[in-house]
Amino acid sequence: MQQNNFCQRFSFQGHAVRGQVLQLTDEFQAMLQYHDYSSEWRVLLGEAVAANALFSDTIKLEAKILFQMQTQNQDYLLVAQKFPEGFMRCMCRYPESDKASPSTPYALLQGGNLLMTIRIDGQDDMQGVTALHTGALSGDLIEYFEKSEQIPTWVLLASDGKRAAGFLLQRMPSSEQGEEEDNFWEHVVTLAKTLTPDELLHLEPEAILSRLFHEEEVALYEPNEITSGCQCSRERVQVMLAGFEPEELQEQIKRDKVITAKCEFCGKNYDYDEVDIENVWRGGVADDPTSIQH
Ligand SMILES: [Zn+2]
Repeated sequence: MQQNNFCQRFSFQGHAVRGQVLQLTDEFQAMLQYHDYSSEWRVLLGEAVAANALFSDTIKLEAKILFQMQTQNQDYLLVAQKFPEGFMRCMCRYPESDKASPSTPYALLQGGNLLMTIRIDGQDDMQGVTALHTGALSGDLIEYFEKSEQIPTWVLLASDGKRAAGFLLQRMPSSEQGEEEDNFWEHVVTLAKTLTPDELLHLEPEAILSRLFHEEEVALYEPNEITSGCQCSRERVQVMLAGFEPEELQEQIKRDKVITAKCEFCGKNYDYDEVDIENVWRGGVADDPTSIQH
């Protein structure tokens, strides 16, 4: 199997329409290697990772991009994050009792929100939010771009739990607005809608573009590589621990002498003794979900 882990931009000669093809194979599997999520959740994680990578590539900022799908009470949570260096990670959390649930993960999250945070060091976060209500993450993302950003957009997301892929078309603001450009946009979206999730997951980008737009002049640019990776550290996990009740941690340290905290993205364990725990409440801000092991 060919390993593809990249996002590749393309544009149409003479038209203000741009696009991206994204494919992840072994690097997506690496993001999930420490987890035993159900196959249904792996599919939605793949779609969320693809959505984040497409979104990150459209804004072209040196920023951390955090996607969070969640129900109001956060009993269902799915996170996909991309870092400026190009690496990504993801995790999800759902009630243990839910493993045999007949509902799809999207249906369980439906009615909740997708929060999209752009974090640049030294600046205030920028945040967009859209309701999870169209029946698919791709539909919610299209709605976000059209309603909140006023950018006509078409998105297809696909995952089989082992691969993740995404395809995006976007109309750029330009001086060449008018009926001809409106028609061109409608024309390419109509063609793009014939792309199947299976084709998106398995065909090379060149083959996808020639299959869809063989009559158009399309320029395909150099791919931007995407890798898996985590950003957790002893200090970041310590900051997360500060979110727990002091009594809870102190009781546990008395009983077990050590507290083991696990990064929910990469599965790495961090041990804290009594002295470390006393220092826990002198920290900053972190965005790494952490669980304490008993
Ligand atoms: Zn980690």
